[in-house]
Amino acid sequence: MPERLRRLPLRRQLRAYSDLLDSCIARVLDRLHRENPDFGRDLAIDASDLPACANGQRYLSKNGPQRERFSDPDASWGHRSAVSTRKGGGFYGYKVHAAVCARTDLPVAWQVETAGSHESNYAAPLLDTVKGRGFAAETTTPDMGYDNERVYGECEDRDSRPIIPLRDTPGVKRGDHRPPECDHGTSTFAGSDPSRGASKWCCPTSVCEPERRWVKADRLHPLIPRESKRWKSLYRGRASVEREFGRLKNEWAPLRLRVRGIERVRLHSDLTILAKLASKLGKLRADAQAARFPVATCPSAARGQSPFGAAWSPSG
Ligand SMILES: [Zn+2]
Repeated sequence: MPERLRRLPLRRQLRAYSDLLDSCIARVLDRLHRENPDFGRDLAIDASDLPACANGQRYLSKNGPQRERFSDPDASWGHRSAVSTRKGGGFYGYKVHAAVCARTDLPVAWQVETAGSHESNYAAPLLDTVKGRGFAAETTTPDMGYDNERVYGECEDRDSRPIIPLRDTPGVKRGDHRPPECDHGTSTFAGSDPSRGASKWCCPTSVCEPERRWVKADRLHPLIPRESKRWKSLYRGRASVEREFGRLKNEWAPLRLRVRGIERVRLHSDLTILAKLASKLGKLRADAQAARFPVATCPSAARGQSPFGAAWSPSG
């Protein structure tokens, strides 16, 4: 630790570190992006619970008053949904909101907030971080918890097509989300124009005049229609964020956090995810090097040395 940092109070040390970490994370992500230009093109977004390192008992005693002082005062109560055999319900702690690349399963942006934070408020900040890190996310796929008009606008404003399943709202019950109809039946999708913010639908028999109709994009009629194959295939990509949370939690073993306070929890998650990204980058480079210098034809590799010699370091 540099002397300059060591003299600061812990809270400020952490903040100074987080700036260094941010630039380090951005650099590793950029290198991964260069290795794979498709990295970050289709994103899956979700939140996952991080129970606090604190007494999780909500009540002081059975049927007693609710606990008012917790050993981690930054944490809060939140709700999690059921996962396989675990029941859903309340938990005390934090949530990590993340945007994961659906093609590589690697996280591109993440944000730790207290458990009471609502998922749908973090789609826009995550997409802004993704953009700031030099990625152009063409599509964004969260789950139904993000299905509100605001999130669609936030994605479109950032030039990313939202792929979100519909909640059963009154408009959906009325069937307002269905493709437009004409006297000849249900129109067929004929492409979208993001600059116009609308999708194009054709008369099934080409008899109508005009044959094409533009439908303005909104929650009920996104630019990638829910009926399309592309929408369905992108929605399947959402599994990537769940897989990644599962893996990260194993790496965060034991599942329980051992640090308290939101800044430390943030630092802890940054370090965990950075380690993961860096090891992926290292593996990609090792694979590329192995492909260039197969062991059988490279005498130094056969002796267990780097073909680049001791001075070679994995930068550049
Ligand atoms: Zn028609």
